[in-house]
Amino acid sequence: MPVDVETEKFIKVIALKNSVEHEGKARVDAVVAKFVGSRPDQRKQIKELIPEIKRIVQEVNSLMLAEQKSLLEELAPGETTAAKKQTGEQQLLQLPPLEGAAQGKVVTRFPPEPNGYPHIGHAKAAIIDEEYARMYDGKLILRFDDTNPLKEKLEYYDAIAEGLGWLGVRPDVVKNTSDDIELLHNYGRKLIELGGAYVCTCSQEKMHDLRAKGVPCECRRDPATALDRMEKMFGGSYSQNEAIVRFKGDMADQNTVMRDPTLFRIIEGDHPKLGGRIRVWPTYDFAAPIEDSLDGVTHAMRTKEYELRNVLYFAILDRLGLRKPMMIEFSRLEFEGIPVSKRKIRPLIDNGTIKSWDDPRLPTLAAFRRRGFVPEAIRKFVLSLGITLADTKPPFETLEAFNRKIIDPISPRLFFVKNPVEVHVSGARETEVVLKNHPTDVSLGTRKVRVSDSVYIAGDDAANMKVGDEIRLIELYNIKITSKDLDVEGHQVIEAAAGGDEIRQSIPKIEWIAKNDIVDYKVMIPKELYVGEEYNTNSLEIAQGFAESFVSTLRPDARVQFVRFGFCRIDDNSSSHTAIMTHR
Ligand code: ATP
Ligand code: MG
Repeated sequence: MPVDVETEKFIKVIALKNSVEHEGKARVDAVVAKFVGSRPDQRKQIKELIPEIKRIVQEVNSLMLAEQKSLLEELAPGETTAAKKQTGEQQLLQLPPLEGAAQGKVVTRFPPEPNGYPHIGHAKAAIIDEEYARMYDGKLILRFDDTNPLKEKLEYYDAIAEGLGWLGVRPDVVKNTSDDIELLHNYGRKLIELGGAYVCTCSQEKMHDLRAKGVPCECRRDPATALDRMEKMFGGSYSQNEAIVRFKGDMADQNTVMRDPTLFRIIEGDHPKLGGRIRVWPTYDFAAPIEDSLDGVTHAMRTKEYELRNVLYFAILDRLGLRKPMMIEFSRLEFEGIPVSKRKIRPLIDNGTIKSWDDPRLPTLAAFRRRGFVPEAIRKFVLSLGITLADTKPPFETLEAFNRKIIDPISPRLFFVKNPVEVHVSGARETEVVLKNHPTDVSLGTRKVRVSDSVYIAGDDAANMKVGDEIRLIELYNIKITSKDLDVEGHQVIEAAAGGDEIRQSIPKIEWIAKNDIVDYKVMIPKELYVGEEYNTNSLEIAQGFAESFVSTLRPDARVQFVRFGFCRIDDNSSSHTAIMTHR
């Protein structure tokens, strides 16, 4: 029985994982067992599937281990090492039990507004939502919270879906709040009928004033006409800002959220899903509790800044007699120097300071991906933070450390020299060296480099050298500096004498590039985006230099570690030669 593309890929990933864990040879029985375990619904058809599984396992086994690893990394990013590490660490990275949770009954939801690209803060929320759904064998809903046509775009729905897909967050249900717009309108009518809301036609300034004083307006005292006025809102008799639906709270409440907050407003504009046919839109305050309740959400999680709005959330459900989910809060994720909020990111994009949402300086998922972070690192990092209310900003280095641990074993070691300086080695005979691409993992292979009597080294290394110094060019030979001069064009030229092959611990070891093996290369190095409240104009350093020609043969997306420089991801090897620094 031929299998569909998706199943083919699913089986291939299982086979690759199994193979990578067993020195390059997957076993059919192990793959079958794993397949049935993850797709119990297909147990009945397994007889027909076995020939296909055999074929796929054969295909996988015909590849070299290194190829298997890179294919696995391509099909299921991050699995390569995750596959090996099902140990204690995994145990530690678990969220605490969820209050009031019953096996098979937990429903969580992640409700992003499609008004921008998803960022690492969204990753935190989505991963926590998903982890709890899985922990209790429950359900995760992805609900696009799209009730403001002026801010939302199809591009952003797609970007969110893509970002979550990359993270490996798989919702069981995907929906939009706007799917339920008529339903929400009806709940609005119902709330008015129940005397829990009214239509207010006062000016914004007046309301602002009254709310500050804690005094209600006349509209509130006139329940008889409220429903009629709401129908007029739907019918188009009012224009934007002329009428809004307010919750009948308490204009003198200590918690200002309860001072008759807005539930519906008129927004003229085309909605990305519904076009221009809807003009009365619920606010988040109104839509969120109703959607959560009707969607069967048992545990609604959101960030702590909504804390004061919880009273309103429950008051609306109370008034409408709807089931109340449990509300759980956690702290917003922020980093020092990297604000994690669309409010901070969007202006930089809008005013052209930053060209795209995947600019490596941004905390968007697209940017993390482009920089060379793997999704597992983000998940581990989020789980390591746990679900706390503390407002501490975790160091960015913690996230880097999780990532480094995963990519270190799979990144080939290559040479890049920034601000190169030529070193002429007199007495060096032309030789061919075979360099290991990885110090311990032979499956990453080797490369051959022909070296004449000239190499380039990094400008910083050159600056640190004195005549008489002995230095080892990594995996090549030792040299002794005999002179440091400027040539006619003012370039520094270093003369050295060949100094033997013997490896000595005491002398510095530096990377180099053979003179006849160079390509111009550039590495983008993202720095902190903000210094205090100000945009950091030096937030992107461009390091120019030479890389070994081998680097220009890598496919975009390849990860490398430039020795003594840092982990990088190849960004472009066609129109320019550019890498992006992931981290040191
Ligand atoms: P932003 O300020 O970036 O617009 P938001 O909260 O308005 O953030 P939404 O798209 O409405 O963005 O958020 C969807 C979910 O993601 C919410 O439940 C919110 O609590 C959560 N979330 C957003 N930012 C963060 C963050 N920095 N840390 C943790 N969770 C976050
Ligand atoms: Mg928002």
